[in-house]
Amino acid sequence: MAPRKLAAGNWKMNGTLASLAEIDRLLADHPAPGCDVLICPPATLVHAMAARAQGRIATGGQDCHARTSGAHTGDIAAAQLKDAGASHVILGHSERRTDHAETDAQVAAKAVAAHQAGLVAVICVGETEAQRDAGQTLDVISAQLAGSVPDGATAANTVIAYEPVWAIGTGRTPTNDQIAEVHALMRDRLAARFADGADFALLYGGSVKPGNAAEIFAIPHVNGALVGGASLKAEDFGPIIAAL
Ligand code: PEP
Repeated sequence: MAPRKLAAGNWKMNGTLASLAEIDRLLADHPAPGCDVLICPPATLVHAMAARAQGRIATGGQDCHARTSGAHTGDIAAAQLKDAGASHVILGHSERRTDHAETDAQVAAKAVAAHQAGLVAVICVGETEAQRDAGQTLDVISAQLAGSVPDGATAANTVIAYEPVWAIGTGRTPTNDQIAEVHALMRDRLAARFADGADFALLYGGSVKPGNAAEIFAIPHVNGALVGGASLKAEDFGPIIAAL
């Protein structure tokens, strides 16, 4: 089974109910017969987006708690996302790792919770610019994969997104060779650890735009993209989906 292609959007802390009109525009102008499309809006919009999309695109959360319920003010349980209509959840995004000091072990625990709730975990890994400059990229990615992806991961319940921290929201992207090197490493590591490791969808994320999407999608073991800024407007996200 070849990995399924996925175009995923991360709206981060952007959007209100009025923004859901972008879903209608996206579906009207850019039907996506060849790939799955996922949008992860802020938690306030998960229920409304899922209702609006009616299964035509998938809806995801941007984080979940590792526990199922309890005294965790401001947090959201995986089952609550599922209940609101989500099918996926982004975990371990670099902004969570930086802003909330999330560790690999915490990301793995959240992924277990997501799986138990029936959500697909989109687990993010990526090196900082200092780590790349120090020649540590492959070691960093290997360690993050080993620590953030739980033993129960399968190609059906887990997607991996390679997002170099220095490429997120900066307009800078790695070279094609650099992306290819990391994606080949991730494929090898997953295949060595999981029976269906060859089938996990591997996304690239970091300043993907309509103008560079096709080139990035042609790189071996790139099965789609996790897109931040360019997922907010149908006029940008639509051409990215079409390129996949
Ligand atoms: C992201 O935050 O996941 C991301 C890839 O952002 P951008 O596309 O804006 O670089």
